[in-house]
Amino acid sequence: MLDLKKKLQEMQTHLGLNPVGIRQRMTILALEDDHLAQLSGHAAEIEELHLACAEALHQHFCHLPELTLDSEYPGLFARLPYQRLRYCQQLLQGPYDMQHVRMRVLSNLGQERGRLASKSCLAAYHFYLQYMHAGLSERWSERPEIAQRLYGCLLRAVFFDMGLAVDTHAAASQMALDDSDARYARTVLCANDGLWEWQVDNDRMQVSERWLSILELDAVTAPRTLDDWLSRMPPSHRHAFNDVVQRHLAGDEQQVHLECQLRKRDGELVWVLIRGLVCVDAHGQRLLTGSQTDISQRKAAERELAHSSLHDPLTGLPNRQSMNELLLQASQRQSRPGARHAAVLFIDLDRFKLINDSLGHHAGDLVLIQVANRIEHCLRPGDHLCRFGGDEFVVLLDDMAAVSDAELVARHIMDALHQPIVVINRRLTLSASIGVAALNGHDGEQDALREADLALDLAKASGKAQMALYSDVLQQDAHHRLEMESALNDALRRDQFEIHYQPIVEIAATRSRVVGVEALLRWRRGDRLVPPDEFISVLEETGAIVEVGEWVLREACRQVLHWHAHGHQELRCSVNLSSRQLQQSGFAEVVARVLRETGFPATSLVLEITESLLMQEGPETLATLRELESSGVRIALDDFGTGFSSLGYLHRYPLHIIKIDKSFITKATGDERLKAIVRAIIGLGRGLCMDIIAEGIETPEQMEFLHAEGCQFVQGYWFGRPQPAAVVKPLLDSMLDPDFDRHGAAPALLH
Ligand code: C2E
Ligand code: MG
Ligand code: MG
Repeated sequence: MLDLKKKLQEMQTHLGLNPVGIRQRMTILALEDDHLAQLSGHAAEIEELHLACAEALHQHFCHLPELTLDSEYPGLFARLPYQRLRYCQQLLQGPYDMQHVRMRVLSNLGQERGRLASKSCLAAYHFYLQYMHAGLSERWSERPEIAQRLYGCLLRAVFFDMGLAVDTHAAASQMALDDSDARYARTVLCANDGLWEWQVDNDRMQVSERWLSILELDAVTAPRTLDDWLSRMPPSHRHAFNDVVQRHLAGDEQQVHLECQLRKRDGELVWVLIRGLVCVDAHGQRLLTGSQTDISQRKAAERELAHSSLHDPLTGLPNRQSMNELLLQASQRQSRPGARHAAVLFIDLDRFKLINDSLGHHAGDLVLIQVANRIEHCLRPGDHLCRFGGDEFVVLLDDMAAVSDAELVARHIMDALHQPIVVINRRLTLSASIGVAALNGHDGEQDALREADLALDLAKASGKAQMALYSDVLQQDAHHRLEMESALNDALRRDQFEIHYQPIVEIAATRSRVVGVEALLRWRRGDRLVPPDEFISVLEETGAIVEVGEWVLREACRQVLHWHAHGHQELRCSVNLSSRQLQQSGFAEVVARVLRETGFPATSLVLEITESLLMQEGPETLATLRELESSGVRIALDDFGTGFSSLGYLHRYPLHIIKIDKSFITKATGDERLKAIVRAIIGLGRGLCMDIIAEGIETPEQMEFLHAEGCQFVQGYWFGRPQPAAVVKPLLDSMLDPDFDRHGAAPALLH
């Protein structure tokens, strides 16, 4: 209601409907108050005619099928005769003042809302005038001058009214148009999208304010032609855009839809999404119109996502996936004639786990970041470095004069990484092992990676902090290893393993005696007896060592128990353990079960572990070792001196025996420094109340030296090589012999 009142006021102002305006309208039509007075004077007769006219008009409209108003506005048609009657009364009554005019405008506005089209409105006026003309002539057939005069008055009044109706309709449409224009303008102003319009046939461009602001342009620098617009795109985008526009104009593309870059005023590129559709305007001209959206934020987010899927979050280096892609490209380049050399370096930090375990992962992360920086400093601009995972990095060296240049870079990297690193106030010295392989166009890129990895294995195996080059020999080794893996797979089931025993002797001035044996595993492969150094690592890698190790333990316990029963009750049994066995949860329980099942006394069992095993392990290992110790089992630290020989281990872990590695003993007699080390180890063991066993005694001189230094226990070829149980038995028995002498009979018997 409020809306209609407001509209009426607006309309009144728009049409100038004030007393002066009304008077003007009357003057133009030569409509005087007297004319209205004459009509009022014959109101009764005219009203009679009005009634009949309204009814006739109603009938007339009812028979026009194209007027579907009744279905759209039910009841409207039924009301029409009465509305018309009232209208006729108003028409004749006058006075034509503000009140009258307002009523008329309101009625016309109502019709506007009711969508009574002006054509039916005019038709109704026509019908009315024709009807009234005939009616008046008939009524005053005797007095035609009255009929004529009254019709003249009626004609003026009706035209006055028609003028109001036509002006109201026109003004209402104009106001609606203004309103929608204003709304459209507001939408354009608020829209985030820039709008554009291109008159295809005469190449004229128009763009909105927002369009300009995306590119920081103004009315002066705004594009005027399509070329102006295209000139802001990089060439490849320009072609793509032009192409999609032409295809759309040719009807091959449903719409213009393209993401491309545009140059801003300052030259910076911005990503936009351009959409458009062609239409034909009122003049038959083709008009391509559309929007342009700034999508730079979305593009940035997409870029970030793509970057993070291809990069390592810690170091920001390309990750394994992007290295694969880089390798593929490099290997394709290699297959082209005249290509320079390329190579892959596989870098692995030595003992990185130790840093993580001892200083925490945060420190480990900081180390990795510094390592990445250092490696990067050793590379040239065209080279690529990626973090392959953990402490592994891969370098792709491209465009080299010779493959041997890769070795130089590898050494350079090793030197750079060897410089001390300071992390959280700790000074650390790192070392890295590197495998190097050439990248050939004919091999796949994955081959080079695999070859570099193989070379890395070799570098690690030859004592870490080493570099190794891939060669065919390496590949043969790998084949050989694979073969061995599958052969080892069912060696246990096929009974191919056997145990050899090597005596451990207590030396004394007067009389030496065998106090124990070390169980050493052998693999009978066809005619060959394979030594453990060749296959233990394979068993460890495949995990089979767990099962095989338990078999060794059980067999050794059984065998030594048998010897216990045959005169050697005191004999100890030493069994070597692999780290995989200790990592097994409930390993102490496995040992307890074997002891239970075989009946072997725990106190006669010695389990040998290596320093490297302790280095890798954490609190669980300590707990397992403690559990074993509490059951009476003794623990020996094997190969002492070859690993890190951290005295901390001796203190932290429950260890009862130190075994000095044979490498010290072999050379000790002629080397004063080695002698000093052996002496120190013996002193250390004694101080910690640990037994010392020296391994690898091969000569009487070595024996003398160790005896003189107070080493109680020895093991070595001088006393006996590892032999099958049946061969060892006579040796054990002979050592029971009171005539047995460490300087004479025993070695002769064994060699
Ligand atoms: P290890 O535990 O240090 O064993 C001693 C190694 O020194 C044995 O080599 C033995 O034959 C050798 N040896 C003893 N006396 C002398 C000597 O006077 N001169 C020289 N040159 N060598 C001597 P073997 O039997 O080849 O075993 C090598 C390694 O394999 C062992 O070193 C041990 O670490 C591992 N191993 C052997 N059996 C097993 C097993 O059942 N389980 C596990 N996990 N490892 C085993
Ligand atoms: Mg051993
Ligand atoms: Mg050893």
